[in-house]
Amino acid sequence: MTHEELKYRQGWTLEQKIDHSVGVVSAFLAKVGDKGYVSYSGGKDSGVMLDIIRRFVDKTVPAVFCNTGNEYPEVVKFVRETDNLTVIRPEIHIKQLIEKYGFPLISKEQSQYIRQAKHTNSEKLRNIRLNGSINGIGKIAERWKFLIDAPFDVSERCCYFLKKKPFAKFQKQTGLFPLIGTMAGESRLRLQKWLQHGCNLFDTDKTASYPLSIWTESDIWAYIRKFHLPYSPVYDLGLRRTGCMFCSFGCHIKGDRRFYFLKEHKPKIYEHFMQMRNNGITYKEALRFCGIDFPDGTDRQTRIEFLHI
Ligand code: SF4
Repeated sequence: MTHEELKYRQGWTLEQKIDHSVGVVSAFLAKVGDKGYVSYSGGKDSGVMLDIIRRFVDKTVPAVFCNTGNEYPEVVKFVRETDNLTVIRPEIHIKQLIEKYGFPLISKEQSQYIRQAKHTNSEKLRNIRLNGSINGIGKIAERWKFLIDAPFDVSERCCYFLKKKPFAKFQKQTGLFPLIGTMAGESRLRLQKWLQHGCNLFDTDKTASYPLSIWTESDIWAYIRKFHLPYSPVYDLGLRRTGCMFCSFGCHIKGDRRFYFLKEHKPKIYEHFMQMRNNGITYKEALRFCGIDFPDGTDRQTRIEFLHI
């Protein structure tokens, strides 16, 4: 696939995109012998995907929700109203993961690079994370390099333990393959995956369908309006994304208000998470260290003072 192809398809009408998604799902289910399940997060994107599949393709396709222990209570309540739903759970709590591996900060990609630069035994990998590979990719962004020397760890590992592992276990037990409601335009990693494999990926342990790859956020809302689809009430409180309450991926981006939302609407949960620690440093201190704009944040000066403690 190409960037141009994605741009072209993103310009299609809603009806064309629905037809396309129906085709993607039908082709996927035909190939896996109807052994598909909807990976359902309770968010608007996977909700739209679930509706498309059950409305236009096969109303018996099961939905699976992983309750990570880091979900908005409204989302959990909303998800429970879904028919033909299986709830799975991770074997470990996020508090233990943060203690052991570190805070999920900046982005999945940058967290992984920082963790590897800090802990790998391979000089080659460390050099790539610091300076990039031959074509300059795979390195920590200059603005986040200070996190290598932070007095706490940064890590994307909780995604594996809270999401990937429970779903992998479910797939092994049931023999079902996932349909995932992510969009190529959401992140660099998702874009690269789509450019490489398109909307359906058939590759033993990675076999999965991504029927909404060419959709945009405004298509999702247009679909919700067109079919009067119910959605989690957290969106009406001003939240743009559901998913893990205490994920800090993207919270450095200007205008991100997730922690303001939490402090206002879930003050007890907010304080609970902010006190989680890695290497003796609280989440609150780690966010301050990064200069993140959040309710108990402060300016960059504090990070410099922090470094001298
Ligand atoms: S989305 Fe963020 S908080 Fe949730 S499991 Fe993944 S890295 Fe952890």
